[in-house]
Amino acid sequence: MTVTTTGDLPGEVYDVAIIGAGVVGTAIARELAAHRLRIALVEASDDVGDGTSKANTAILHTGFDATPGTLEARLVREGYRRLNTFAAEAGIPVEPLGALLVAWDSEQLAALPALAEKAVRNDCHDTRILDADEVYAREPHLGPGALGALEVPGESIICPWTTTLAYATQAVRAGADLHLNCTAGAITTGSHHEIATNRGPLRARHLVNAAGLHSDEIDRRLGHTEFSVTPRRGQLIVFDKFARGLVGHILLPVPTAAGKGVLVSPTVFGNVMLGPTAEDLDDKHATGSSAAGLSLLLDKGARIMPELLDEEVTAVYAGLRAATEHADFQIRAHPEQRYVAVGGIRSTGLTASMAIAAHVRDLLADCGLDPGPARELEPPRMPNLGEAFRRPYQRADLIAADPAYGTVVCHCERVTRGEIRDALRATVPPGSLDGLRRRTRAQSGRCQGFYCGAAVRAQFDEARATPAAARAEARR
Ligand SMILES: Cc1cc2nc3c(=O)[nH]c(=O)nc-3n(C[C@H](O)[C@H](O)[C@H](O)COP(=O)(O)OP(=O)(O)OC[C@H]3O[C@@H](n4cnc5c(N)ncnc54)[C@H](O)[C@@H]3O)c2cc1C
Repeated sequence: MTVTTTGDLPGEVYDVAIIGAGVVGTAIARELAAHRLRIALVEASDDVGDGTSKANTAILHTGFDATPGTLEARLVREGYRRLNTFAAEAGIPVEPLGALLVAWDSEQLAALPALAEKAVRNDCHDTRILDADEVYAREPHLGPGALGALEVPGESIICPWTTTLAYATQAVRAGADLHLNCTAGAITTGSHHEIATNRGPLRARHLVNAAGLHSDEIDRRLGHTEFSVTPRRGQLIVFDKFARGLVGHILLPVPTAAGKGVLVSPTVFGNVMLGPTAEDLDDKHATGSSAAGLSLLLDKGARIMPELLDEEVTAVYAGLRAATEHADFQIRAHPEQRYVAVGGIRSTGLTASMAIAAHVRDLLADCGLDPGPARELEPPRMPNLGEAFRRPYQRADLIAADPAYGTVVCHCERVTRGEIRDALRATVPPGSLDGLRRRTRAQSGRCQGFYCGAAVRAQFDEARATPAAARAEARR
């Protein structure tokens, strides 16, 4: 099990190097690690899932509204099934709430039958059109004026943070090397790829580019110009847990050519979110929120569910979709270079991640990689962050065995000392307090760390001061 954060990279020539440890790169590493290949997963940040994968709307999509026949449609549909199965094994929180696509005018109402037919072409056979009475019976807090809805029972909410972490954990336990704080630069291709990084050269026979917003730049370094990434910002507002009782389903607008539109949805953490916007920008680092964006969301929210706006806001955040000039994913094999580009994974990459990974494995075989037989990997058992499932502070058995699970540190999210300790000792430990938040929920509640910040930091600093050997021993 190797996770490195500093120092020179090993001198060995890996079978495959993957650039980017978002949900897509970690899924690919996990898939390949099952094949006894030597895998290096390199990530510029100090943590996995620290790019777009940490800031999305976290819907596990059925793919009902994808464009039939596209690669995205196939991979979302297949990814939905694969991730549902994996989530159940690994303990990733998923809630199959179902979605309602609410029609607010006669034009949208008229569009619902075509959407139901499209769903069938996407192998989603259980949608149903509801009249206004049934919509309000299901969602009594919806704003006035809804004329009907398309119900999509399979749409679900999932924990995006645990998903990426579970993939990375399984990959590392299966023998993949995860190198953090490691930015890939110039690439020279000969008998193997030599990738310059800030931690010395990385060598690998095959290369996978899963660099998200920067995948076009890596692609250019290998001489390709098939796609350019335009960051498409999605801003979101997170409402406090008191709002959770207002919403039963994922409430979607009827999609337009401009995208999926603004939704209201519960989160697995027990909050309600409103968003996202869709703004094309030039800056791949523009993850801030704007007054104009938040005001647009509040206007839309006032129509969808006026009562929601009376609730307290816990946080706002924004993520950047890796949009390109193409309508489909940009996954291409270049066998002559033993290289696979995985770009343009815009708004469904969380759902599609495991299917993308299986597809990339097949493309690597087309590039001359002999993966050999796959072995069955032990599923990792991830700590539960989901509000709908029992958490350690609710479990008398755990607390009796270890009082640290009865010592609440973050009172807003009811995170215990035992959970923070476990996260700090895990196979893929956090590199920052934000990473610790994504593993435990500590500091993500209504006070945003005002009360527990010092205690959480003290535990984090203490663990970081512990030598790596002692941490490894504690993991046993
Ligand atoms: C607002 C919003 C809502 C969304 N909602 C959903 C949803 O509900 N359901 C769904 O399925 N999907 C959703 N998505 C899409 C999903 O989040 C993305 O498709 C997915 O996270 C993309 O993952 P990735 O691994 O390709 O990219 P990233 O998570 O960005 O990972 C790429 C990684 O590469 C690293 N990197 C880049 N350059 C280098 C380099 N030179 N060297 C080393 N590392 C490098 C980055 O640091 C980053 O960590 C949404 C996206 C947004 C923005």
